[in-house]
Amino acid sequence: MTNSVRTRFAPSPTGYPHVGNIRTALFAWLFARHYEGSFIVRIEDTDVTRKVKGAVEAILDSLRWLGLDWDEGPYFQSERLEIYHKAAKRLVSQGDAYYCYCSPQRLKEMRAEQVKHKQPPGYDRHCRDLSQEERAQKEAEGVIPVVRFKTPLEGQTGFNDLIWGDVVFDNSTIDDFILLKSDGYPTYHLANVVDDHLMGITHVLRAEEWLSSTPRHLLLYQALGFKPPQFAHLPMLLGAGRAKLSKRHGAVSITEYREQGYLPEAMVNFLALLGWSRDDRTEVLSRQELIDNFSLERVSRTAAIFNRDKLNWMNGVYIRSLALEDFTQRALPFLNKGLPLEVERPLPMEYVRQIMPLIQERARTLAEVPELAQFLFVDELDYAPSLLIAKNMSQVSTVKALELAKQRLEQLEVFDAESLEAMLRPLAVELGLKTGQLFGTLRVAVTGQIAAPPLFQTMAVLGKERCLRRIEVALAKL
Ligand code: GLU
Repeated sequence: MTNSVRTRFAPSPTGYPHVGNIRTALFAWLFARHYEGSFIVRIEDTDVTRKVKGAVEAILDSLRWLGLDWDEGPYFQSERLEIYHKAAKRLVSQGDAYYCYCSPQRLKEMRAEQVKHKQPPGYDRHCRDLSQEERAQKEAEGVIPVVRFKTPLEGQTGFNDLIWGDVVFDNSTIDDFILLKSDGYPTYHLANVVDDHLMGITHVLRAEEWLSSTPRHLLLYQALGFKPPQFAHLPMLLGAGRAKLSKRHGAVSITEYREQGYLPEAMVNFLALLGWSRDDRTEVLSRQELIDNFSLERVSRTAAIFNRDKLNWMNGVYIRSLALEDFTQRALPFLNKGLPLEVERPLPMEYVRQIMPLIQERARTLAEVPELAQFLFVDELDYAPSLLIAKNMSQVSTVKALELAKQRLEQLEVFDAESLEAMLRPLAVELGLKTGQLFGTLRVAVTGQIAAPPLFQTMAVLGKERCLRRIEVALAKL
């Protein structure tokens, strides 16, 4: 298939792109890149009533953020109306489509009747066989018609989906769907088929929800004399507990993940595994490994579950794999924004570089960095004094431990992690404490937290002066 594959991402700008949309884009992109083909972006903006301002920019912005580069486009269907009009006219003149003059009122009544008689929805073909005169009269009345497809009343339409295998629909279940609306815009079906043909799309990868539209598309391809592309309908995405994916599960706009401190490379890896897998084990795959290994054979039919814990875990893996300077640069905007205002800006970069290794080990998202690093910047720590008293210790033994630790720290000349450890371990023995007790107390005194990065490294970056001051404050609290 080398060089001939052409896929596309064809979003409708009816909202901000969510996880599902971008997963579709990613799969189409991976497929194109795997076969060294082309990836095309086409904006399907033919539903004027549902257009959302800023959606197009958000879509393109998301693709750029994730590095899903495209070779052609973005094409806008709203700029190609002429093309769809021509196609619709051609279908009418060859007898495969017709003008329909039914008023919204009539359609509404028809629908109500269908509901009443428990009939399936669909146009009742009222205008399918209007005579020349009847049409002329409607035109004279100034009714603006829509164009409908003349769906064959019998027979079947089937195809071989690259994921679902053979799929067959009875034509009798397909109504005479609209091709051209009265506002002059084409419907999705018409514009989609015409463009996939004109843009030379070889493989349509799209969400499962479009599977049932495909027979209509195939009928259109046939009527227009176009060779249809191959179809691959991607499995549904569900949230935890197999519920419909909602905001709570992560159906938020994909750009929000950037704001929440997810790395694009982690996001790409995570999204790729929503319905595809390389094998039953491998979770972490680089962009290149994804491209090299991607295949539709390994796309599953079962719904993929969006698991935020897994995303957090994976993002942490990617964060820890970053070079320190890279991590620092990516975390910096979050630090600047998230640290309390009292921390002076610009932040002291030398110090920032010293603390970053400690934070990189623990952060799952960049947005967590300010919270994790806060104690390394602020003057006053806010914690409950009771936290200072470690398990099986009393206030008296805690005071004693902190006082002695303070004295010894004052005398320490080289204030690095090794020297601190060499001094503090024997001190625990001397005090008759377990190391966990002494270190626990010290940890709370110098960090204000029970869980923090490794104690000696943390004390070393904080520096002697700051550690001593914090121990004094702790003693005062006791
Ligand atoms: N505009 C459709 C959507 O937003 C495209 C479906 C397709 O790929 O054919 O999902």
